[in-house]
Amino acid sequence: MAKKRMKKKSSKFGRKKKCRFCANPNLEISYKSERMLQRYVSDRGKIVARRVTGNCAKHQRMVANSIKVARFLALVPYVREHYR
Ligand SMILES: [Zn+2]
Repeated sequence: MAKKRMKKKSSKFGRKKKCRFCANPNLEISYKSERMLQRYVSDRGKIVARRVTGNCAKHQRMVANSIKVARFLALVPYVREHYR
């Protein structure tokens, strides 16, 4: 599988994808909403990077902090061993 990504460099800048928390102010980022936080945790239990989620820096930071609190409360796992 050869990676040929010469063109389409402009796609990075073309359409600005707004983060879903900016787009929808009613969405609350909280350690209690574990269902929502699960979407930002990979199947290995890692926090998904901002370039993947499309969140803005502010909201990604809020999500990351909420996940860390949720992990402490055992709502979100630190690592999922059974996926290995
Ligand atoms: Zn945002």
